[in-house]
Amino acid sequence: MKSMAEEKHEQVNEKRKAFPQIGDIAVQMLKERGVTIKDIAELVYFLQKNYHPELTLKECIENVEGVLKKREVQNAVITGIQLDVLAEKNMLDEPLLSIVKTDEGLYGVDEILAFSIVNVYGSIGFTNYGYIDKMKPGILKYLNDKTNGYVHTFLDDIVGAIAAAASSRLAHRMENVE
Ligand code: MG
Repeated sequence: MKSMAEEKHEQVNEKRKAFPQIGDIAVQMLKERGVTIKDIAELVYFLQKNYHPELTLKECIENVEGVLKKREVQNAVITGIQLDVLAEKNMLDEPLLSIVKTDEGLYGVDEILAFSIVNVYGSIGFTNYGYIDKMKPGILKYLNDKTNGYVHTFLDDIVGAIAAAASSRLAHRMENVE
């Protein structure tokens, strides 16, 4: 006899196999974890507003969407979120379960995975990533709140990395226009 959770899991998997656009699934998974494209765009705005005073949120959204079209980015999103979700359900084996659940400081694989996103648009991304990771504005503050029962060990780095990559993309494009 299957549990309701197992049945729901099978239904979701059947649907995803029928429509295997990883990009759409990555965006959907972000949303299910409480992160919208607009949330990430707001981080881009935070990072870039001082350099580009005319910047609009719409331009930030376009650049986040551009980053999310990259397969490397989609792969990082679906891998990281999956590990967070499995940890939340206690479905990983030890010692990884405790490490991911407690967001253990020495682990670092969450950051390495995020670097595969930052890398896509070259080295300026790293400065942005470091800065936003330290400041934790907007959605990053919510993702770092350890009191709400969710595990966002991978997601916080992924979201910061997408914002950093989108900022680099935006900066490159602005340079070409100006
Ligand atoms: Mg983390």
